[in-house]
Amino acid sequence: MKSPAPEPESARGTEPDSAEQTPLDFIREIIADDVRTRKNGGRVATRFPPEPNGYLHIGHAKSICLNFGVAQEFGGTCNLRFDDTNPTKEDVEYVDSIIDSVHWLGFDWEGRLYHASDYFDTIYEYTVQLIKDGKAYVDDLTADEIREYRGTLTAPGRESPWRNRSVEENLELFERMKEGEFADGEKVLRAKIDMASPNFNLRDPVLYRIRHASHHRTGDKWCIYPMYDNTHAISDALEGITHSLCTLEFEDHRPLYDWVIENCPVPSRPRQIEFARLNLTYTVMSKRKLLDLVQRGDVAGWDDPRMPTIVGLRRRGYTPESIRDFATRVGVAKRENLVHVELLEDSAREDLNRRAPRVLAVLRPLRVVIENYPEGQVEAIELVNNPEDPASGTRRVPFSRVLYIEQDDFREEAPPKFYRLAPGREVRLRGAYFLKCTGVVKDEQGAVTELRCTYDPATRSGSSPDGRKVKATIHWVSAAHALDVDVRLYDRLFTVPNPADDKDGRDYKEFLNPDSLEVLTGCRVEPSLATAKPGDRMQFERLGYFVVDPDSAPGHLVFNRTVTLRDTWARIEKAQGSRLRAGS
Ligand code: ATP
Ligand code: MG
Repeated sequence: MKSPAPEPESARGTEPDSAEQTPLDFIREIIADDVRTRKNGGRVATRFPPEPNGYLHIGHAKSICLNFGVAQEFGGTCNLRFDDTNPTKEDVEYVDSIIDSVHWLGFDWEGRLYHASDYFDTIYEYTVQLIKDGKAYVDDLTADEIREYRGTLTAPGRESPWRNRSVEENLELFERMKEGEFADGEKVLRAKIDMASPNFNLRDPVLYRIRHASHHRTGDKWCIYPMYDNTHAISDALEGITHSLCTLEFEDHRPLYDWVIENCPVPSRPRQIEFARLNLTYTVMSKRKLLDLVQRGDVAGWDDPRMPTIVGLRRRGYTPESIRDFATRVGVAKRENLVHVELLEDSAREDLNRRAPRVLAVLRPLRVVIENYPEGQVEAIELVNNPEDPASGTRRVPFSRVLYIEQDDFREEAPPKFYRLAPGREVRLRGAYFLKCTGVVKDEQGAVTELRCTYDPATRSGSSPDGRKVKATIHWVSAAHALDVDVRLYDRLFTVPNPADDKDGRDYKEFLNPDSLEVLTGCRVEPSLATAKPGDRMQFERLGYFVVDPDSAPGHLVFNRTVTLRDTWARIEKAQGSRLRAGS
């Protein structure tokens, strides 16, 4: 039994509900303040606005947990909105997977599923109004010229020669752009703001561009598409979003966001607030890079269990609860930082420890023959399913004369502090008897192929009536009853903590870990798993948490390792190893 953790400082108040109160992050503080002062009538409305050009990753999960979480906490609403303004990169496959991932994480938009493309008509109307107000113009400069005219950090931009077209001419040209009279890139519509602004985003940003491309929702209705900045601001305002939470890279775009809100006849005034993106060690966190890994075949797909995508983490065995817990633990900050992936793994461990049933499994089997155990006898050993959850009950596991144990649990010559099986040494078999190694069988190469052992029938309770002690308990399966399964062990996808940010500018793909996947065949698991289904999670005792992979076929299970348990021996060995290296 674990002793209860000491109560955190904040939980020791006298108020009965004070344990619920965690300190507010800066976003929640702003929102709480707005609610208190009845801004927006005290209403809170957020949205999660993915672009359907890839699968969601753990960074998006942070944003989802923040947006939906804030709405829940303040009795507000959170919309799911597809930011589908770029017809060439978007796909329904992505739309479907995003919907599925948000649901799987445990959030619901209660029917408020929107698309930026729902607003194309309104955005167009507002834009016509901007032209009428003299605040937008059609520009004939090419993309390169526009970039050149934009100036630099130290030099102001230059005005386009087309900047002062008349309202009538602009209206007519914009109409003709819409009617498809011009080729891609031939003209754009720009906001007329300030070419000398210290903020690049205000140097007459492009509001519309020509793209002769079919859109996955609006088909061929449009050949001009609004840009992210105006679309996002207008979409927020049309949906009555009160707090538009986005990542830090949009901080410099906020003046433009506000400009759009102020200059278009929008029905509400949302406020944009930026927070730091989540970055995780040993992975990359950009849809473009993840797509690249998928397309190059470095991973088996978006849902490869090594991917930081929601579908990948799910296939790896993560629970939605563990991901939400992780999001809470990393919190919301104003500064970019790199979060240790161990924190994510720890969230998984903590959650799975509570809920995952324990089973016996042997990854690298070593045959054990118990010479004094009656041939043909089988007995049922009753084992607790989950010591953390008494309601989960017990199950019966067959025990017989021939077992498999883990190769690692035996050493012919036991080093110091290795307390498991060795010739002449006695250990406890989990839930069963004491077992003593009396002999070793080897093949021609000298590799150990089988252990000869004896058991003590008086130790079934797990202890010896004569008070004899053993220092280790090892796991086992009955050879005749165990299921033969495959197990996939996953390691970090990259060999360095921050592959996308190498100080020598090397490409992140140079740091792919060639050993990130190890496939074990011929593993053995206890027969109770015969009915396990893809997605079932369990703890293999002493080995880690595992999940049944969808690649499993009837009669042939495939397991993915979600995360290891803490292995003290590995740590000792590692510490010794590094000490040896350090001393050499
Ligand atoms: P990527 O850079 O991975 O392609 P993105 O920002 O282009 O991501 P969007 O689909 O536009 O992806 O993101 C949807 C929402 O999720 C946005 O509000 C975005 O700010 C947020 N988001 C994206 N990546 C992260 C991250 N790493 N941490 C937190 N929030 C993120
Ligand atoms: Mg984006």
